[in-house]
Amino acid sequence: MIRLENIYKYYYSESSVTQALRNVNLEFSKGEFVAITGESGSGKTTLLNVISGIDTYDEGEMYVNGQPTFQYDDDDWEAYRRNKIGFVFQNYNLIGHYTVLDNMISALLILGVGEKKAEKKALKYLEKVGLKGFEKSRASKLSSGQKQRLAIARALAKETDIIMADEPTGNLDSETGLQIIKLLAELSKEKLVIMVTHNYEQAQDYVTRKVKIHDGEIVLDVAVNTDKRINYKAEQPSDDKNADAGEKLGNQPKNTQVDLNQKRKEENSIARYFAWKNFSTQKLRGLLFIVFFMVVSTASFLFLGQIYSNIDDSSTKKYDDSVYYNGDKTRISVRKKDGTSFNKSDIEKLNKIKYVKNTDICDKADDINYYCEEGKDYKYSYGAVESDGSSYGALDPDDSSSSYSIRTQSENNWTFAKGIKKAVKQDMNVNFIKKNKFMRSVSCITKSDLVKGSLPKKNNEVVVYSKDSSVVGTTKRFYFTAKNIWGMDGYYYEDMKITGCLKEETEQAYFAESLCNMLSSSADGAKFKIDFMYDTKTDSYQGSYKLIPIYSETRDNLYDSSADMTEDEDTKDRDYDYRNGVPSGEKARASCNTQVTLNNLGTYDETYDEDATAMMGTDRLTITKKDKNGELTGESDKLVLEVTKEVTDYSDRFIEISKHLYYKYFKNESNQAAVYISNYAKTDKVIKSIEKLDKNYEAVSAYRMSLGEYNDEKVSERLVTLGIALGVLVMLIILEIFILRSLMKIKIKDYFVLKFIGMKLNTINKISIMEMFSYCAVTIVFVIVAANIIALCGSRVMIDMLAYYTIPFYLIFIVYNLILCGVTVKAFNKLLVQRMIKN
Ligand code: ADP
Ligand code: MG
Repeated sequence: MIRLENIYKYYYSESSVTQALRNVNLEFSKGEFVAITGESGSGKTTLLNVISGIDTYDEGEMYVNGQPTFQYDDDDWEAYRRNKIGFVFQNYNLIGHYTVLDNMISALLILGVGEKKAEKKALKYLEKVGLKGFEKSRASKLSSGQKQRLAIARALAKETDIIMADEPTGNLDSETGLQIIKLLAELSKEKLVIMVTHNYEQAQDYVTRKVKIHDGEIVLDVAVNTDKRINYKAEQPSDDKNADAGEKLGNQPKNTQVDLNQKRKEENSIARYFAWKNFSTQKLRGLLFIVFFMVVSTASFLFLGQIYSNIDDSSTKKYDDSVYYNGDKTRISVRKKDGTSFNKSDIEKLNKIKYVKNTDICDKADDINYYCEEGKDYKYSYGAVESDGSSYGALDPDDSSSSYSIRTQSENNWTFAKGIKKAVKQDMNVNFIKKNKFMRSVSCITKSDLVKGSLPKKNNEVVVYSKDSSVVGTTKRFYFTAKNIWGMDGYYYEDMKITGCLKEETEQAYFAESLCNMLSSSADGAKFKIDFMYDTKTDSYQGSYKLIPIYSETRDNLYDSSADMTEDEDTKDRDYDYRNGVPSGEKARASCNTQVTLNNLGTYDETYDEDATAMMGTDRLTITKKDKNGELTGESDKLVLEVTKEVTDYSDRFIEISKHLYYKYFKNESNQAAVYISNYAKTDKVIKSIEKLDKNYEAVSAYRMSLGEYNDEKVSERLVTLGIALGVLVMLIILEIFILRSLMKIKIKDYFVLKFIGMKLNTINKISIMEMFSYCAVTIVFVIVAANIIALCGSRVMIDMLAYYTIPFYLIFIVYNLILCGVTVKAFNKLLVQRMIKN
């Protein structure tokens, strides 16, 4: 069957060459039980490996069934090992965590036997070696003798003619070893059994031939026990049949594409079987891998997310508050292209869009600050009056750097103005501490948002949140500033009646639409023109700055028909020229601060207040409507402008007119709405939806519209964030390659066994690919699902994070993890191939 002719085998190392086999000439036939003996290092294993095709020879020729093997390539040797040789090893080479049956079945699967047939065969050969009843035991739980029996059964199941056993009794006690030898002797009746042993005495009664090797040379080759074994040569099956097999082996037709596909499919299904077997028999180990993948995928989920959400560099730009004073990121400004106003049905429509929290019909008022907590939002400061009567402007009582507070102590000649507000009222200042509260109109809420009361309808009505709902019905002073809209730093105030109490805790107060519209009406300065500061000498108006028209719900209606002034009466009462005709008694009022400007012209009727600080007077004022294009229309009203103490607390640009006149010029309507979304990250999405909803809508992000130059500090902050995230991702790659590779090393032992029982390296690699990718996929899915569940449970951090994560992010995340897994498995497989080739 096997004939070795002048075989030489060398092992090369850096410094020397070992002659492991020298001029070996041997011939083996079926029915022989050959014992190869010799000292340790004499070349027994090498000889066995050469015969079984595990190792190649360097010189000479080996004939298999009469056919030379010099032309065998790797595939041929593999086929030879598979189809011709059954192996039994000293260390059994079993997969410890598989059951006895699985060890058998997996070996047969590798050979291409179908699963059902494999099981049948497995049971048959297990019975033959006396392992019936142990099928379901784990291989690692067997005694050493049973393990070797299992290894023999596995070799037998291949149904090859040759069994090679390398020190099969090396790890067994003598009694168990003897049983194994008896078993091999029994088998050798139908096969060729070649056994390496350094304990010849144990086997001497059973073998048929003794071959002794020394320093790589055959020093003895004798037949023994010839009397006990008869006719083994006669029973030798015809070499012809086997020669055919050899021929087939040697001249295998080259693989066609169909074969390759078929082969790949088979390989895949085998790899799948083992990948699953490995997981199901070693769940703890599987868990270890899953935990590791979990760490990697969680970290990459977070840090890839950091990068992904930082791609938008808007956070690094300076906010320019000249248009949108309120930099709320979640605010989207909506207008209609035809310039018309928004109404309730627009709000309903907009509120239905996904991610929209609420819609404020008065967008412009959302840039107006309000202040309602004295000491927190604002504080007062007062003027001081010296004992000699000279006065000082308002001083900040909290300003310890000013010596004011010391001077108010009694020993000097200052008197503190606090408490005598009236006398120096013009010196009272309101200082606004925090500009963080912005108006919202009542359109953002509904009655159901209140625990008590009703929604505000009038200018001087408001709803707020309070723990104590008895605030409803009380009055509170609110100050308002709107630098952008009014074009000045002044303020407006109103003593507001709290009409309702909100359910949910918030600092946000909600105001009547009419107040919102009134305070923001001058944002549309183009709609009207106010002329004032009438100069009798030139017969023209000198007033050049913007006046802000207001009306009061509480003060008397300025329109007083009973007091309609005739020209005569008027001339009597007021000393100015009515040549241009004074209107039918409509009045306007300005705060006495406005007198400062009037004073300069000197053409008005003036009287001094008894405090000798406020100057009263009258002027005339004309309001003229403008058309769409900003051109003046003929429509106008001429009013008597009273500069009066009654309006003293307003800054110098408010002009109070009657409600009736107000509505005539300034429609209580808003042509710009604000849509508030749940998350800034959804800005683009919502803008798209709004513009899709109605072709007449135009939407912009108030925040983005207001971004100007880059802010260096924030740019570097962003770069640091990106750098850290990138660093972590790179670290993850390194970490995964090293840690996972070393984790996978615990599998190498199994892979060696698989290789020994004939699995191709390619298939082994596929097992690790399948196993690792399954773990990876499981954790990817887990992380995504877990993150979304956490968000659903209401975690703010997670909700904010996921808002940025769109489908492309998830794709990047998945691809990153799969590539990482792929690279690692590849690195591991490379390592595996190196190890396998070495051994
Ligand atoms: P035995 O099985 O009889 O103990 P071996 O066949 O394992 O002996 O070894 C024979 C000789 O070849 C020894 O000198 C050993 O050091 C050497 N040898 C065996 N395998 C290798 C190898 N893979 N690389 C280098 N030298 C080897
Ligand atoms: Mg050896």
